[in-house]
This record gives sequence, C-alpha cells and structure tokens, in this order.
Amino acid sequence: SIKGQYGKYFAEYNDELRNKLLREQAITDEMEQALEQGQFEIYLQPKYRIKDDSLAGAEALVRWNHPKWGIQSPAEFIPLFEKNGFITKLDQYVWDKTCRVLHEWEDKGYPELSVSVNVSRADIYHADLVGILVHTVKKYGLPPSRLHLEITESAYTENPKQIIDTVNNLREQGFVIEMDDFGSGYSSLNMLNDMPIDVLKLDMKFIQNETAKPVNQGILRFIMGLARWMNLSVVAEGVETGEQLERLREIGCDFVQGYFFAKPMPCAEFESLMVPQGGLARQSVSEMGREK
Ligand code: C2E
Ligand code: MG
Ligand code: MG
Ligand code: MG
Repeated sequence: SIKGQYGKYFAEYNDELRNKLLREQAITDEMEQALEQGQFEIYLQPKYRIKDDSLAGAEALVRWNHPKWGIQSPAEFIPLFEKNGFITKLDQYVWDKTCRVLHEWEDKGYPELSVSVNVSRADIYHADLVGILVHTVKKYGLPPSRLHLEITESAYTENPKQIIDTVNNLREQGFVIEMDDFGSGYSSLNMLNDMPIDVLKLDMKFIQNETAKPVNQGILRFIMGLARWMNLSVVAEGVETGEQLERLREIGCDFVQGYFFAKPMPCAEFESLMVPQGGLARQSVSEMGREK
C-alpha cells in the first residue's frame, strides 16, 4: 500500500517537523525572560575603509547567550521573532544597548565611529518607529548620524510606499540608511531609483566563491557605477579572503566587512581595535589577513 511504502518517510518528516515546533515553542517560552535577564548580547563586527585601511565603524549583531543552550545564532531566532512579533522589542533593546556603548566610548575618549544596527522588516510597520529611534539617540546625547539603520532589500519591495515614507522621515532626523543584502532578491533598478537611501550593502553572494567568474566582477563594476551616479557609498560584507578584498579595491568599493578582518565580537573586545597604538585600526587590512 502507499502507506506501507511511504510510511517511513512520513514518520521521518513528522519527527523533523515535531522537533522544529518543539524548538520554536522552547524559544518562545523563554524569550521574554531572556530579555529581562540580559541574555541577549550585542556583538560588533568592524568595518574598514578600503582607501586607507582605517577602522570606519561596526555592525551590531545580536547574540542570545542562553545559560543552558550556549550562544545561539540570530539566523534561527530572528525569523521566529519576526513571526511572533517579539522582534520589535528585541530590536529596541539592541538599539538602546548600542547607543549606550557609543556613549561609553565618548567618555573613554575613543573615536566617534558610527555603528549600524539592523532594523527588521517588522519594525517598519511600527507606528512610532521614528519616535523611538529619536528618543534612543537623544537619551545618550548622540547625533542620529552615529546610528546607521540597515534595512534588508526585500523589505523595500514588500511595501515601497510605506517604506519610502518611513525612510524619508528617518533621514530627515539625520539617521543614515543602508540597504542590506542588496542583490539578494529581485529589487528592480527602478525601485532603487525611488529609494531615499545613503548606502548600498552588497549581498555576500557577489563576492563569495563565485568571485572568480568574470561576469560577477562585471556586475560589481556596474553596481559601483550606479552607486556613484546615485551618490551612494558601498559596503561589501562577507569578505573572507585577500583575493576578494583586492577585487573590491579594484572596482572602488568604499567599505569592507568580513571574517578576513574579524568576526563579530563582544563590545569589550572591539574596544581593543580602537586603541590608538598598535590597534588593528592602524594596520594595513591586507597585512591582517596574511598573519593568519
Ligand atoms: P545581516 O544583517 O546580513 O548580517 C551579516 C551576517 O553575516 C552576520 O550573521 C555576520 O556574522 C555574518 N558575516 C559577517 N562576515 C562574514 C563572512 O566573512 N562570512 C560569512 N559567511 N558570514 C559573515 P549573523 O550575526 O548570524 O546574523 C544573521 C542575520 O540575523 C543578520 O544578517 C540579520 O539579518 C539578522 N540579525 C542579526 N542581529 C540582528 C538584530 O539585532 N536585529 C535584527 N532585526 N536582525 C538581526
Ligand atoms: Mg546587516
Ligand atoms: Mg540585516
Ligand atoms: Mg546583510
């Protein structure tokens, strides 16, 4: 019978599905408490200027440091939080903690770097997104320009009208807007033309493993030309090799971020990059990779 033939597969499928649902339930049961107990931590990944190898800023990426499960990857829990609505709360927490760190750096005399935070597609629909962000930077006495807001490409295509409005308001307040994962979806060049953004953040796929293909280098050149024409600066993320860095240098990309330089790290560790003498900030980015 069909059941006899496929029963094994149904059973396996059901097991997998059940485990997934159990895991999601466990995450959902614990998330509120985790936030209250400070289990969510901000990690920072440095971003460098290609032209002079200097430290240009960082991206804040959240980690869940669970007492029993250990450090959990956002790739699993963020999509779930976007479904159950918890992301709005978590993101506000991340923005607040990030601004607090920037404020502490000022007290310690570190350079006034800007830091990028991720703004979930779900946050865009929050009625008071602009007010909350303005309140957060004000609370720590920071100009909004110190906070770059990364919004993923697909969010722009979902509801262009709404997002143009929101992004315009955010820019009016002085926030810098980055389009994250550019090229990962199907945003048309037409759409890009209408979007009031400041920075293009290239999706990793452009530079990873397929870099060797001449056509990819051609696409990158084209995107750079377009970005220049539109007055946008360009960040490449996911840079893992010196060869990739050289290709990006060749096309005139502005900023780079990736494991070649450093993985996301706890804020205290990031501070050592800002020490004026001997810090990575002063080292040539090309030399950094050779050390490994
Ligand atoms: P994203 O915003 O595109 O962030 C870049 C991701 O690439 C990060 O993964 C980062 O650790 C990883 N990455 C950086 N350099 C390299 C590299 O050289 N090679 C490779 N293979 N990966 C690299 P992470 O930290 O696991 O975050 C995954 C995604 O989760 C992020 O993608 C972002 O969409 C989301 N996310 C992380 N933190 C937050 C947050 O606080 N709020 C929201 N809404 N989303 C977040
Ligand atoms: Mg990002
Ligand atoms: Mg993102
Ligand atoms: Mg990205």
